[in-house]
Amino acid sequence: MRYTSTRGSAPTLDFRDVTLAGLAKDGGLYLPESWPRFSTEQIAALRGLSYVDTAVAVMLPFVEGTLSEADLRDLCTQAYGRFAHAAVVPLVQLDPQNWLLELFHGPTLAFKDVALQLLGLLFERFLTGSSQQVTVIGATSGDTGSAAIDALAGRAGVDVFMLHPKGRVSEVQRRQMTTVIAPNIHNIALEDASFDDAQALVKAMFNDEAFSSKFALSAVNSINWARLMAQVVYYFYAAVRLGAPERPVAFSVPTGNFGDVFAGYVAAKMGLPVAKLIVATNVNDILHRALSAGDYSQGIVVPTPSPSMDIQVSSNFERLLFDLGGRDGAALAEQMRGFEATKAMRLTNAQREGAAALFGSDRVDLDDMALAMRWAYEASAQVIDPHTAIGLAAARRAGLPVDVPVVTLATAHPAKFGDAVERATGQRPALPARIGDLLDREERYASLPGTFEAVTAYIADRASAR
Ligand SMILES: *Cc1c(COP(=O)(O)O)cnc(C)c1O
Repeated sequence: MRYTSTRGSAPTLDFRDVTLAGLAKDGGLYLPESWPRFSTEQIAALRGLSYVDTAVAVMLPFVEGTLSEADLRDLCTQAYGRFAHAAVVPLVQLDPQNWLLELFHGPTLAFKDVALQLLGLLFERFLTGSSQQVTVIGATSGDTGSAAIDALAGRAGVDVFMLHPKGRVSEVQRRQMTTVIAPNIHNIALEDASFDDAQALVKAMFNDEAFSSKFALSAVNSINWARLMAQVVYYFYAAVRLGAPERPVAFSVPTGNFGDVFAGYVAAKMGLPVAKLIVATNVNDILHRALSAGDYSQGIVVPTPSPSMDIQVSSNFERLLFDLGGRDGAALAEQMRGFEATKAMRLTNAQREGAAALFGSDRVDLDDMALAMRWAYEASAQVIDPHTAIGLAAARRAGLPVDVPVVTLATAHPAKFGDAVERATGQRPALPARIGDLLDREERYASLPGTFEAVTAYIADRASAR
């Protein structure tokens, strides 16, 4: 499989290079040149397969030319062997129509482990025995950072610099990053910054050609194609358990950077019968405005109890706009330049109509989030986290036909957000034993002003030039 940039002027790459690069040189994001299609029979054949076997079947077309089926199976076995549940991502029924897909049984308690555990192994495999060294730079609203750090700590050939907005991630999230004391891990708390500020800094470093090539920058946030690829798997895994390919299934996805829900779009493109993809946002609702009214304009980020969704620019939305707009890289580059200059853009008619065929969207405020947490607890004794609650609130009021199962992606373990969960339900979720003595461990991180100069100087001091 070859990969092409959404902005049309970067070279096409194979799976290895697209994984190591992250962002394309023209500022765009990579996508497969074409979508692999699964027949109804191929989808039916996934029924009853283990998570690892499903992962191999779904991802094989994307890694073709780089990894053999046996290699892929080996990596998936290692990655998903670290999950604390035998089903890896268990489905839990809430009522006759609503289900949760628990994606948080990995080492750092968030769904990002599903993709990053595999990505860490892919990096190691591609860099071991080569003279190549890479510097991973990332911005995190909390969960990406801890999942990436867990996946990359101590791995040869990789230095990691992780930027988080100081004071805007939960204590558990911060400690999951800052208590990892491996020599290749560097945490940076950005002062007076939002997640979008941190992400903009990361983008600026990638776009600085001299800096980017001197330190061989690489990205592991959801702009990295390999992450999205790994997330496509659980849409298939859940849907075949609920009646696909005969019965279409809907998904409600707590959304920030549009990575997770874009993976659902990929699954639909591959032939999975997806009745609806509900994009659930909190009050930071740029995606809800874009999908419901065509208005993609950046607002001010409001901090909420669902910090991983406190985002007003959703990087992966560009991938959808590109695919829906007929894959015209030059036109998309023009549209994105307009957005970057004015912080606002209108979707084209083709983009709006294409999106409306598959996507719904909703904006869930604090009260409705708390109500959804209470409903899950009272109706079926499930304690859910604030992000999952936003997805569930949107799922329950989406008005889908009663014979369509609706799967809400449960993106974080409730113990990661214990205060918010306790406020809404009166229940204080316990940290699972595998997190151990997190609250007592020593922390290490740097506090820096959120400027390009401060951050690049810090990185230049600590990463080896290539
Ligand atoms: C990252 C994250 C999200 C948002 O996922 P995107 O792929 O950025 O849309 C939602 N919930 C949790 C708990 C997350 O960590």
